[in-house]
Amino acid sequence: MKISFHGAAQGVTGSCHLVECAGHRILIDCGLYQGSRELEEDNADDFGFDPAAIDFLLLTHAHLDHCGRVPLLVNRGFTGEIVTTAASRELARLVILDAAGLEEEEARYRNRRAKRRSKAAAEVVPLYTTLDALNALEQFGRVVGYQQPLQLAPGIRATFIDAGHILGSACIVLDLHEGSRQRRVVFSGDLGLSARPILRDPAAPPPADIVVMESTYGDRPHRELQPSIEEFYAAINATVQRGGNVVIPTFALERAQELLFYLHAGKTQGVLPASLQVFLDSPMAISATQIFKRHPECYDRETAELFQSGQDPFQFPGLHFTRETAESMAINQIDSGAVILAGSGMCTGGRVRHHLKHTLGRSKCSVIIVGFAAVGTLARQIVDVARTVSIFG
Ligand SMILES: [Zn+2]
Repeated sequence: MKISFHGAAQGVTGSCHLVECAGHRILIDCGLYQGSRELEEDNADDFGFDPAAIDFLLLTHAHLDHCGRVPLLVNRGFTGEIVTTAASRELARLVILDAAGLEEEEARYRNRRAKRRSKAAAEVVPLYTTLDALNALEQFGRVVGYQQPLQLAPGIRATFIDAGHILGSACIVLDLHEGSRQRRVVFSGDLGLSARPILRDPAAPPPADIVVMESTYGDRPHRELQPSIEEFYAAINATVQRGGNVVIPTFALERAQELLFYLHAGKTQGVLPASLQVFLDSPMAISATQIFKRHPECYDRETAELFQSGQDPFQFPGLHFTRETAESMAINQIDSGAVILAGSGMCTGGRVRHHLKHTLGRSKCSVIIVGFAAVGTLARQIVDVARTVSIFG
């Protein structure tokens, strides 16, 4: 038995762990390195193992830093089976195809720019293409239910348990048997907080011999949820009262759906005005929301009961899904009473930059930052109360 680490070691992205046991090789996650340009260049490096020799890839969840190198793995020879939960399978498809599109776009942009500056520059090739992504999707095999042990091979059993992080997320418990040795290894994946909306809380893992655990936020306490929600409602109400719009830069997975959940709750409880118009202005977040609706098996009791009572936090009066560019542009003709959710979460790209261009100069409007904003991003500049920012030059 052997465990080796090929990402998310001495760093927080690029999760990729290899377990070798009883003549089989099992990979846990195959994520993308994300962050600085320098770090992202590491994505093209050798994995540190032979992809063709891997029998199974188990995915903890569909965030890019846990599944974003899968097309590369397949491109370099992996022909094994990818196993994950039903919800993660759908979300991973969305995330991987989106990433491939962005890779291609980035390569085209850099090549055009290089061409304008000098003809001799080497051509930039995308890390992987949409075709690679489509090929990778072919390797998805069985889906697993929570708490349902799956015998992957003789001596290797995997059990996925709730991680409470994003839809479909799981911690993976591996029971390994080799000769007379028996070991249980728990891979935490990314862990969510308890008492968040929509998803069940993380499940307590069983006793284990070895725990491989994420610790991204291990050194800081989280702020209490309820005061944040009250502050959120108060900021929206204050903006609407003075006749402005609210722009909320948001991540497409989980955070966008949580916000819809609270906007729906605020409207039905009368905390927010019934006339409030909510725009989910992100094709990726819209697709993710549709996937959420298809996976009630991931809901916690409160959310399940909400749906059973005929309410739907993802479809309520005043909620608009704007997939088309023209629909997105039309939002800017609304003067007040609109809440606009758009990506990217840190304002580094996407439609939110257009909305910020239209609203940052209007003192009646608000921007609500609801998630992490890394140093150097536009979201961080706004959080740090910059007097001026530059958008589209
Ligand atoms: Zn994650």
